[in-house]
Amino acid sequence: MMEGPSQVASAMPPGMKAPQAPKASRRSFSCVTAAISDGDPMITPSHAEVAAKVGLATSPGREFYDLVVIGGGPAGLGAAVYGASEGLRTILVEKYATGGQAGQSSRIENYLGFPSGISGAELADRAMFQAEKFGARFAVPAEATAIERDDDHYRVHLADGTSLTSASVVIATGARYRRLDVPRSDYFEKVSIYYAASQAEALQCAGDPVAVVGGGNSAGQAAVFLSRHATQVTLLVRERDLGENMSRYLVDRVRRLPNADVMLGAEVRELHGGEALEAVTAQDTQTGERRVVSARAMFVFIGAMPCTGWLNGLVELDDRGFIRTGPGTSPAPLLLETSCPGIFAAGDVRSGSAKRVATAVGEGALAIRLVFERTRPA
Ligand SMILES: Cc1cc2nc3c(=O)[nH]c(=O)nc-3n(C[C@H](O)[C@H](O)[C@H](O)COP(=O)(O)OP(=O)(O)OC[C@H]3O[C@@H](n4cnc5c(N)ncnc54)[C@H](O)[C@@H]3O)c2cc1C
Repeated sequence: MMEGPSQVASAMPPGMKAPQAPKASRRSFSCVTAAISDGDPMITPSHAEVAAKVGLATSPGREFYDLVVIGGGPAGLGAAVYGASEGLRTILVEKYATGGQAGQSSRIENYLGFPSGISGAELADRAMFQAEKFGARFAVPAEATAIERDDDHYRVHLADGTSLTSASVVIATGARYRRLDVPRSDYFEKVSIYYAASQAEALQCAGDPVAVVGGGNSAGQAAVFLSRHATQVTLLVRERDLGENMSRYLVDRVRRLPNADVMLGAEVRELHGGEALEAVTAQDTQTGERRVVSARAMFVFIGAMPCTGWLNGLVELDDRGFIRTGPGTSPAPLLLETSCPGIFAAGDVRSGSAKRVATAVGEGALAIRLVFERTRPA
């Protein structure tokens, strides 16, 4: 089933466009009215209608591939670029739009080679363009609903009733960070709400007050780290005991911070500000008392849910639903390989992953090397 790059190119179905720069957004179709530059406005279009309008392939085009990549975030895009460039007939299936979580980030500053940052959307567009250049196909939007074994191949079922067959599958369906259900959070997510607290985010809010939401270790670590950059850190914790979900050492550290305030039993109710966040209203869940806390940025660490429900027990998961890979995952001996030989997992969906763009891309690339190891053993 493996072919060299030239065969891949000639295997492109007639009518498939040569790779070109995108004409319109390839990532987010959540608007109610879509204005397309070379056509009429579309009123409440479906994802498929918008995708078709801007020239995206929404159907797989053929049934047999060497590699099916499920998920169009950084890990899936990494797998598609490397898979296609290594001569695998590759298709990437994405449920909504390429970019994944990274597509929500207006500026990724810790990705190699972009010292002044790049938006997740642009990074995804570039990666998609690059993958298409090597002959990868994209089915967007197309949702994988199940994978089943079919002799020595896997059959990936899609929500539209069609299916794709391939020897190898890379699952890169990522995770959804739990979001706060608060009015205006959709808007502030673009400018002032973060789901990670690295140096890049810390620099964004240096000299400003910030709020950190969550009571686990990730929230505690973020509070400690951000306290070195922010003027004031307010930790908003739903539990009434900081030690309920946070390690003792972190509880002690947070408690010792001179510029940190902890509100226990607190839930965020309102977000205030114009273009950027200025304050949040937190409410005590027992007394109902409300307090307005100054915050130019809000860091949310209330857990992540892996997108693995659709796998229906096919591969082994950890106790939080992330896919187990590598040694110890019986009977799969290869790194990134799941408990089903030939099915790999990359990026945030993988148990123990680093939850970063660079590691997701790297795992996508590494998965391709492992695909070759599995299908062409030495
Ligand atoms: C707001 C925000 C800002 C961030 N900023 C940074 C940053 O600055 N630097 C950094 O290193 N990291 C950042 N991160 C983390 C980073 O974005 C993630 O670690 C990375 O996107 C993970 O990539 P992934 O491909 O594994 O998964 P995801 O990005 O989650 O992509 C998974 C994709 O799979 C698709 N999918 C899910 N289920 C199916 C299905 N059944 N069929 C088909 N497709 C499916 C989803 O629609 C999604 O597009 C940020 C995250 C967020 C939310």
